[in-house]
Amino acid sequence: MFGLQSLRPLQHEAIRAALEGSDALVVMPTGGGKSLCFQLPPLITGKLTICVSPLIALMQDQCDGLRLLGYPAAAVHSNQTLSDREELRGLVARGELRLLLVAPERLFVGTFIDWLAQQPLGAIAIDEAHCISQWGHDFRPEYRRLSELRERFPDVPMHAYTATATKRVREDIQTQLSLCDPAVLIGTFDRPNLTYRVLPRQDLECQVAEAIKRHPDAASIVYCIARKDTELLASQLRQRGIAAAPYHAGLSAKTRSQVSADFRAERLHVIIATVAFGMGIDRGDVRLVVHAALPKSIEHYQQETGRAGRDGLPAECLLLYSAADAAKWRMIFERNAQELGSEPEVALAQLALLSQMQRFANGTRCRHRILSEHFDQDYPPPNCGACDVCLQELEAVDFAHITAQKILSAVARTGQRFGSSYVIDVLRGSKNEKALLRGHDQIPTFGLLQAVPSQRLGNYIDQLVDQGLLARSEGEYSVLTLTATSAAVLKGQQQAVLVAPKQELAARPSPRHERRSGSGSASGSASDRETADLSPPEQDLFSALRALRRTLAAELKLAPYMVFNDVTLEELATVRPRTAAQMLRVRGVGERKLDSFGKRFLQAIASHCDQHGLEFSDS
Ligand code: ADP
Ligand code: ZN
Repeated sequence: MFGLQSLRPLQHEAIRAALEGSDALVVMPTGGGKSLCFQLPPLITGKLTICVSPLIALMQDQCDGLRLLGYPAAAVHSNQTLSDREELRGLVARGELRLLLVAPERLFVGTFIDWLAQQPLGAIAIDEAHCISQWGHDFRPEYRRLSELRERFPDVPMHAYTATATKRVREDIQTQLSLCDPAVLIGTFDRPNLTYRVLPRQDLECQVAEAIKRHPDAASIVYCIARKDTELLASQLRQRGIAAAPYHAGLSAKTRSQVSADFRAERLHVIIATVAFGMGIDRGDVRLVVHAALPKSIEHYQQETGRAGRDGLPAECLLLYSAADAAKWRMIFERNAQELGSEPEVALAQLALLSQMQRFANGTRCRHRILSEHFDQDYPPPNCGACDVCLQELEAVDFAHITAQKILSAVARTGQRFGSSYVIDVLRGSKNEKALLRGHDQIPTFGLLQAVPSQRLGNYIDQLVDQGLLARSEGEYSVLTLTATSAAVLKGQQQAVLVAPKQELAARPSPRHERRSGSGSASGSASDRETADLSPPEQDLFSALRALRRTLAAELKLAPYMVFNDVTLEELATVRPRTAAQMLRVRGVGERKLDSFGKRFLQAIASHCDQHGLEFSDS
């Protein structure tokens, strides 16, 4: 029915636990295939599973997608009429339903839960289970009441699913839901198909535009910290001819749902958003996630970059970073603490998370490794082949040590009383009135780094701070000071190293092509995710099939990815089946979808092959 060839290892274990009737906590990264773990067992046991899911839009999509496969699923939400509900109860009474999707708040309305308690349930699945934890990044008050479920359904196995990896959240889920001796199944967090890059932010508009151009016709999400930043960047991109729309919580509900709908229907590819654009994203073909500024924690970064490449195909995650971002976050934390009167402990925890994120951004070790280690997982491959560090896009700066000495000396000579922009002015010898007034044009380092652009200097200062060779005070006016190790560098007893991006990325091919043309993935990606190289005529066929998918989806009022995802379309473009039997062997093509869409796709492939002289499959 699902058109899949095999289960992934963790899916096996999760499904086994479900069939054995034990409780389970399943932690899998985004795109890991959690849904199948609660969709498959009811088909085998013949019993109804209740699935609690946080967003109505997502639920309805999942439900429509399942029905398209011929899977007996339904959703319960507040927009339903009385007769919808009657119909639903009928389906359940006749034992015709296998999966019932319910929003958490809906569970506890009226007598619904009493009615549920009388039904012979096979299992209760809690999707996005981290929403129950205050320690998570997506806490939802309506999830809290799910702790009542164990009491109401003492004998029904409960399975919690999440992509959030932190131990604290995991333990919290287990406690809140009173999971009983659960099978705890934790997947690998690494996402081998994502290429991570961090670049100093220099010209945001230009850097984002270049990144988007590396992924023509593909979905891209750009995350900004503030609402006004999303509006500004979107309009700048539009002026450059890139159709981009802003998305943030300050827009009207109508505008937001229009933007989401356009994105979902593939009428719109580029969204410039705040974190408000999140869980409801169901496009699996997001090929680029840009962070226009530093996110406030590695968890947020992982969650947001996790929206790229959910279909398993290569995707790029680009972080454009400037030290000013961290200062901005600190101000936000302070303001929130004052407004909400929260505990000082909370602010300290936030600052600790922020500095971990900063270390990641300035780090010069494999990004896949740092992320894996952050989530307490080993990362054996010596070279991931999918981050700027391993792809050797960074290089050690010439004369780094002397440059570092000049910077440290400028900090010392100006009395350790100024922030980086002032120190940069001094180093670049700018005729800053204040510098002249203070006599700082007389110090030996004045103008010594005139040739280095100020953005670059700012990034060097960040690197020195991250290496502990300089310190930056907290607060609105952060001041640079020397540290215990500064003296060793100044005296030449310790060498300082600085790195910079090697070449402009604009000239690079998209990672989609890059990964296939042999930079290799040493990271042991699941074999079911690898696809063949598309030749230019195959690429054209792929584009034609995407257009057909959009048309069919519009006719059926479905999201295009529900018809077939990119993995299936790529395989159709390389295999080029001539018959229904051949088409059925392609990943993601099951009997039901073959029935619904097979003819149109086979026709499209045949006419494209004829026109362009492409061979058909001979198997
Ligand atoms: P999650 O909910 O964990 O983010 P999904 O359940 O949405 O992930 O699955 C992500 C993608 O992986 C989907 O496109 C799905 O069809 C695909 N998938 C799931 N299981 C398998 C499998 N065993 N083999 C191949 N593809 C799979
Ligand atoms: Zn790497």
